[in-house]
Amino acid sequence: MATATTTGPTGSRTLYTLNLDDTMAFPDNSNIPAHPPAPDERWLIITELISDPAPRPGGHGFMVKDKIGDRFPVIFSTPTAARDVRPYKVGRLICLANGSMTDFHQKLGYFVQDKSTAFMIPCTIATLRLLSVRLRAQSDAGEFGQCCSVCKTRSDLRRCRCRTRYCGTECQRRDWNNGHSKECRAIEALIVWNRTEWW
Ligand SMILES: [Zn+2]
Ligand SMILES: [Zn+2]
Repeated sequence: MATATTTGPTGSRTLYTLNLDDTMAFPDNSNIPAHPPAPDERWLIITELISDPAPRPGGHGFMVKDKIGDRFPVIFSTPTAARDVRPYKVGRLICLANGSMTDFHQKLGYFVQDKSTAFMIPCTIATLRLLSVRLRAQSDAGEFGQCCSVCKTRSDLRRCRCRTRYCGTECQRRDWNNGHSKECRAIEALIVWNRTEWW
């Protein structure tokens, strides 16, 4: 188990170094640390919903699969669980900050007692990986954070909320209509994670 270090952020403004296969930053079911997180220790469990939310023993919940295909229940036991699970639908991601498995009614699962430890990204694990590969390719080409995402002009006149760059409104509008609207929140998460100091 790695101990916390004081190295700088994983990614810089012009490099994409995020690795979704890093089992310490993004553990699968069998790599979740058994200990509670140290003060500056963080990990994120990325799972995809395979059933829609429904009332379950102990709250509201759904089934998910993690990145290696292991399936387990996620139960919100928050006071407003029925409302808190509303953003979650089949094919979307729930990301669990510093999650650990709990034995509950003789089933291992993840229990959300504080809704701020969970957040939704509207894409599948497969899409998240594709976007990550694309960002890596942009980084390898020296275009990450430097060029208009559409026409590759070296310009950052306009920035989307996900920090994708454009030379102007025309390229931004074209990209939005060509699918960026469906990818924006996932790219936003990947870029934040790329700059996160995980350890
Ligand atoms: Zn452009
Ligand atoms: Zn965007």
